[in-house]
Amino acid sequence: MTYPRAHAAGRRTGTTPSRRGGRPAADVRPLVPPRRGPGGRRLLAALLVVGLLASVLPWWLDTPAASLRTTAATVTAAGRISGLIAGYLLLVQVLMMSRLPALERWAGGERIARWHRDVGATLLVAVLAHMSLILVGYAGLEDNSVLTEAGVLLRDHENMVAAFAAAGILMLVGLTSVRVIRTALPYELWHALHLSSYLVLLLGFGHQFSNGAQLFRPGPVRTFWIAMYALVLAALLWGRVVAPLAFNLRHRLRVADVVAENPDTISIYLTGQRLERLELLGGQFFRWRFLARGCWWQAHPFSVSAAANGRWLRLTVKVVGTHTADLRDLDPGTRVWAAGPSGTFTAAHRTRERALLIAGGSGITPIRAMLEELPPGAALIYRVRTPADVLLHRELDWLAEARDTAIWYVVGSRDDPGPRQVMSRDGLRRLVPDVARRDVYLCGPPGLVEQSLRVLRQAGVPRRQIHVATFEL
Ligand SMILES: Cc1cc2nc3c(=O)[nH]c(=O)nc-3n(C[C@H](O)[C@H](O)[C@H](O)COP(=O)(O)OP(=O)(O)OC[C@H]3O[C@@H](n4cnc5c(N)ncnc54)[C@H](O)[C@@H]3O)c2cc1C
Repeated sequence: MTYPRAHAAGRRTGTTPSRRGGRPAADVRPLVPPRRGPGGRRLLAALLVVGLLASVLPWWLDTPAASLRTTAATVTAAGRISGLIAGYLLLVQVLMMSRLPALERWAGGERIARWHRDVGATLLVAVLAHMSLILVGYAGLEDNSVLTEAGVLLRDHENMVAAFAAAGILMLVGLTSVRVIRTALPYELWHALHLSSYLVLLLGFGHQFSNGAQLFRPGPVRTFWIAMYALVLAALLWGRVVAPLAFNLRHRLRVADVVAENPDTISIYLTGQRLERLELLGGQFFRWRFLARGCWWQAHPFSVSAAANGRWLRLTVKVVGTHTADLRDLDPGTRVWAAGPSGTFTAAHRTRERALLIAGGSGITPIRAMLEELPPGAALIYRVRTPADVLLHRELDWLAEARDTAIWYVVGSRDDPGPRQVMSRDGLRRLVPDVARRDVYLCGPPGLVEQSLRVLRQAGVPRRQIHVATFEL
């Protein structure tokens, strides 16, 4: 079943519909946030590349072609450069885990998570290459077998036991990040294992400076590397401790109310202090830690499902597991620790004037918030299995009026004629003829995201205009 919710141009301000539970209605901000171009992200990418080049430059200067006369010397030199690359990538990895607000602003939480995954795989390769090339190279230089050389390294070289332990932990983290293994593990176990990457930094640090051919001598190269370590640790301290502490002391968030939206979805309303100063864009998410029994020890990401209004915040949560089930029983007054806001799935990251939004199921939550901030003239396709699955229905209808937005509720399974028709190239073009000239914001289950991406590309939407939120970090 597909039915459009037509719209009327005009009213740009209003109040949220009054809802069960009597929470305060708030004014919709008519403001469309200014665009944030890709400048910050490009600058960050450029800085990371320059950092890499600066890190390996000393190796280049120290390794004239004439020094590579034997195979063993060449292999050792390759081992050294892969070690420098691995050391640098490890620092980049930790930097990306730092949640430094500037990084979040420049590149966005989802993109940083993607970079983190890609750099992680490269880091593993670099570490394996470094270990094996150094072993083979040193064995060749000293005329030992590889096994004997491993023993010599562990026994006679400072900090090597810690370095081998670091490599072991890194392998474990890498292995458990492979998708099939990761999804088979409970999230909390995977996360705890993943956090042990900090140990890698600690354990690997010593051997770089006691054995690294380019780093063991005092001088500008060593100073540069120590400065990089100091910067990364400062970023970590700022992003993980100082900034969240300041945010939570400033806003002192508490649960105001928990409202059932349907049998398996709730909305959690939060109040706090100085919310009018909160810098938050519709579509962004926080990692929320509810300081209640059974919940306080884990932080879960949820998007805000209403734009900032200076008076309350709201998240809308589908119950899918134990933590989300526990959230149904939160008492008003429960303190909340939030880390964020994070993410570039926002109106500020648009590249075009108009937008098409495609939401599936609970993927409507960030899109609902963003609808308040997009320029008028947006279009929304909301895919659900049954009419009862439509979330925040009245608000969406009301926003359609207030923000001149066309909404189509596309109800049914993916093989039903209505959804099949809409989610095809021609169906999409019929519904939104100028789709190729719009930004497309896409949030929903992986199946819907994959199908939509395919159809959007067939309909001629350039990749840079497609913004995806997958509810996966
Ligand atoms: C950026 C982002 C925004 C999100 N926004 C919303 C939203 O607005 N509404 C909504 O209903 N859901 C949202 N989610 C999904 C939500 O975080 C998970 O459904 C929830 O954490 C599941 O927890 P659980 O213990 O109940 O379920 P589980 O069965 O334990 O987990 C289900 C899946 O959720 C993921 N997950 C579990 N715990 C965490 C965690 N601590 N951190 C990250 N991922 C985790 C894992 O992939 C896991 O396989 C969002 C996810 C992300 C990444």
